[in-house]
Amino acid sequence: RCAAVIDAMKEALARNGIADQVKIVLTGCMGTCDMGSVAIVFPEGIFYHRLKPEDGAEIIEEHIIKGNLVRRLLYTAPGAKEPTPCIYDIDLFKKQHKIVLRNNFYIDPSSIEDYIARDGYAGLGKAVTQMQPAEIIEEMRRSGLRGRGGAGFSVAMKWGYTALAKGSSKYVVCNGEEGDPGAFMDRSVLEGDPHSIIEGMAIGGRAIGAEKGYIYVRVEYQLAIERLEHAIQKAYERGFLGKNIFDSGFNFDIEIRIGAGAFVCGEETALLTSIEGKRGEPRPRPPFPASEGVWGKPTVLNNVETWANVPKIIHRGADWFASIGSEKSKGTKVFTLAGQVNHIGIVEVPMGTTIKEIIYDIGGGIQGNKEFKAVQIGGPSGGCIPAALLDTPVDYDSLGAPGAIMGSGGMIVMDENTCMVDIAKFFMDFCVDESCGKCSPCRIGTKRMLEILERITTGGGREGDIELLEESGEMIKLTALCGLGYTAPNSVLSTIRYFRNEYEEHIREHK
Ligand code: SF4
Repeated sequence: RCAAVIDAMKEALARNGIADQVKIVLTGCMGTCDMGSVAIVFPEGIFYHRLKPEDGAEIIEEHIIKGNLVRRLLYTAPGAKEPTPCIYDIDLFKKQHKIVLRNNFYIDPSSIEDYIARDGYAGLGKAVTQMQPAEIIEEMRRSGLRGRGGAGFSVAMKWGYTALAKGSSKYVVCNGEEGDPGAFMDRSVLEGDPHSIIEGMAIGGRAIGAEKGYIYVRVEYQLAIERLEHAIQKAYERGFLGKNIFDSGFNFDIEIRIGAGAFVCGEETALLTSIEGKRGEPRPRPPFPASEGVWGKPTVLNNVETWANVPKIIHRGADWFASIGSEKSKGTKVFTLAGQVNHIGIVEVPMGTTIKEIIYDIGGGIQGNKEFKAVQIGGPSGGCIPAALLDTPVDYDSLGAPGAIMGSGGMIVMDENTCMVDIAKFFMDFCVDESCGKCSPCRIGTKRMLEILERITTGGGREGDIELLEESGEMIKLTALCGLGYTAPNSVLSTIRYFRNEYEEHIREHK
């Protein structure tokens, strides 16, 4: 539909003889999934939404030529009587802080010139011509950037270990295996700003002494793959990849590896094994990838969002980045908002923003004015947060205490009518499907937990089932081989913790 809107705009521009005076840019995702096709008219920043193809011509003829707002296409906030025309005044946008998604509103992802015009490759230029590798790692340490893939490990520490590891060749890897239900942050960055990943990885390569990088993307992300391929080719043509980058003597190549779409390949050791062309199964750690990663060589692996932060940190400096966010979690975090919230889409907020602000101030509250019940944070590996904890700030440390995890950033919002046992069953079913089967606690344990949930929700629940779920969950957490297994019970354990009465009611009702 976006393409049809653009075609209609181009036709209207040509018809009115002003095709050379107005530039139309097809950008990446603006994070407004519930609003259909959208357009922003600059320089005023007037935001139009829910566009049909024929609306394209009206925007050109009414707004661009006559200077009138097209009122029926303007956005009105939930509960408001009047529309808010300017994007800078709309809560959904003005309460966000975009670092990772800094370019998604503005650039054509297929244009390296657009990327360069917004300081693209300035960070790489600085890293290779003005900084020594150890200085880059020190800058990352001072920035406080933590890996955005889930665990929140210090990026500088990971890079530092790999830089010190002995090895003739080293690698950097981008984890673009995004398989959690309701999560599409990585996809948005890869499709909307592919050069930011290329630049971030090249800086990482310079810091640790690697000359080769792999971007691992799931096969379902075809548009992301196309845009990455195009961006890599352009980066080679402009000398940002390849030999002797910025005449510095630094060489760096990037290759894309396409995964078959297995959730377990988001686990770092499984991903590295899959890059080598083998079945993507986790292996025990140690050895950690910093000493033995892809091809048995020292490897730094970070996810898409982490890499996208790197160019800006080097370009603007660690102090700037460290001034954003909370004490121990610096910068911003990208979340996908899904479920029963008014605005479904992607948001980026400073670390430390509360869940309430994200769901109500930015997300516009609960659909149909219903009561908020819970939010599942961190996908199948995460946990649910009930209404009483809505003021919890989103940062790595605060989210751990109530039993959730940041994860990669999926947020599924649930209203008063949601059955929390069904939710736990949904996520457990997902984990059973995605378990690679290598270790028995996960392969068998998650299956047994799912069977108990199935009987509870279909009238066969027994006394002692809740305790059995708790015991099995704790056992799997302690003994599973990889992160998929040891986080799989989280949704069950956290729903029992906050909504035990719902489990009890299911069991009592069917006695
Ligand atoms: Fe495979 Fe699950 Fe064991 Fe991980 S925990 S290795 S996904 S069976």
